Amino acid sequence: MRVNDILEMIINGGVPTKKELSELIETFRRGGDIAAEIYERARGVAEALRDEHYGRRVFLRGLIEFTSYCKNNCYYCGLRRDNKNAERYRLTEEQILECCDYGASLGFNTFVLQGGEDGHFTDEKLVSIVSKIKAAHPKAAVTLSVGERSYDSYKALRAAGADRFLLRHESATDEHYAKLHPESLTLENRKRCLYDLKSLGYQVGAGFMVGSPYQTSENLAADLLFLRELQPQMVGIGPFIPHRDTPFRDYTAGGLELVLFMLALTRILLPKVLLPATTALGTIANDGRERGVLAGANVVMPNLSPIDVRKKYLLYNDKLCSGDETAEHIKELAERFSKINCVLDMSRGDSKNI
Ligand code: SAH
Ligand code: SF4
Repeated sequence: MRVNDILEMIINGGVPTKKELSELIETFRRGGDIAAEIYERARGVAEALRDEHYGRRVFLRGLIEFTSYCKNNCYYCGLRRDNKNAERYRLTEEQILECCDYGASLGFNTFVLQGGEDGHFTDEKLVSIVSKIKAAHPKAAVTLSVGERSYDSYKALRAAGADRFLLRHESATDEHYAKLHPESLTLENRKRCLYDLKSLGYQVGAGFMVGSPYQTSENLAADLLFLRELQPQMVGIGPFIPHRDTPFRDYTAGGLELVLFMLALTRILLPKVLLPATTALGTIANDGRERGVLAGANVVMPNLSPIDVRKKYLLYNDKLCSGDETAEHIKELAERFSKINCVLDMSRGDSKNI
């Protein structure tokens, strides 16, 4: 099949084979007129699908990066255990609750608690934090992004009131997964976590980095097909960006265009997902998040962490942590999005992919 036909087949609701999808992605990556043509078609359809299911609303989530300690050693991440230059901090329960109160006063209705895999935060501690947030803000959604844990742990956190969980699958191909992570981390366990979370009734977010080292078009095709199979409620896709104190320091960042194409394809393959225009996308291009929204994204996650720790949660170099990225600048963010005819929405914004 010609790549244009593959794209039309997907637009019409067909499920491509891995071979067809990698051919489409590979053609896009080679660039030229055909790449521009398929991108414009995919983007237009993705934008229309987003409009159909969610309107031109961009949902806001308040992001609280509550610990920079991590026991893992993912090769790409600045918070990895072996990075001796990382500045480590953890917020106290009280500080986390204050962040939520502050966020609520700004109008936020979703709090995302993200951190490294920090043994300090036992089930008992996290359960206490989640239940206190829910008690103080009963109508707000609590999203956790705290990595791989046991079924029982996820169960206890869900019972405490956690509504959503973000856990990118990172790569749906075993060999590629093994090039991004040490042996102690496996795709098998990552998938186990995602299916456990789904079975417990969480709204689940999977996803991956675009342009991570060794990633092929076939890997990206496998990522999209895995998402199609998992049917998560959210999908986090952003560029890989190198961090100077990691083994991947010398690799180049993922390209803006490829991220946008992946966002558009994701919207087409899973029309009802919530799709963030990520901080990483805003980091590689000044208008990255607006362009993400024009390619079908509909969520942004401004930073609600205490100002003095924001620079320390450094997943990659030059991560945005000031200006329009912050919760304090909602007005500026609203102006940016109004230029592309979108409005900010601070309601809970639950996923329609249920
Ligand atoms: N520890 C948790 C949550 C924090 S990391 C977890 O791993 O799930 C959150 C996400 O940041 C990861 O899923 C990864 O995809 C992304 N990330 C880490 N390092 C990155 C880098 N160098 N460039 C872009 N994204 C990165
Ligand atoms: Fe830790 Fe998550 Fe970074 Fe891996 S990606 S090192 S688990 S914070």
